[in-house]
Amino acid sequence: MKIDGACHCGTITIEGEADPDKTQICHCTDCQTGTGSAFRVSVPVSGATFRMTGEPATYLKTTADSGNPRLQAFCPRCGSPIYSTTPGDGVQQSYTVRVGILRQRERFQPKKQNWFRSALPWVTSLGGITSNEKQG
Ligand SMILES: [Zn+2]
Ligand SMILES: [Zn+2]
Repeated sequence: MKIDGACHCGTITIEGEADPDKTQICHCTDCQTGTGSAFRVSVPVSGATFRMTGEPATYLKTTADSGNPRLQAFCPRCGSPIYSTTPGDGVQQSYTVRVGILRQRERFQPKKQNWFRSALPWVTSLGGITSNEKQG
């Protein structure tokens, strides 16, 4: 399906095509650090359909858990994570886009959880925590 989205401050916008069934959670410790949160939710977007306005800041990180170097892209102004991809010049084959920046994020329900061995112990019991419809 068609997707579009933007970082928190609007400097970076993206669009492309993504399959909601490919939505994944990553609980690895690098994703916890890189998001500043408990886990990362991402979906692949093919390079052939991926379009972006604005210039993200990037850094190359070889994650301790997988051993693969990944180029991490984020907004240089607001810090929102945008995507990760393979290192190299030009258009890459696939961009792993962060679901939280998508306007259609509700349609992207994760189908798989990776690196669950480092998942924070409370993530499977969110339903048991006091829930407020708005700020509590
Ligand atoms: Zn931004
Ligand atoms: Zn990860």
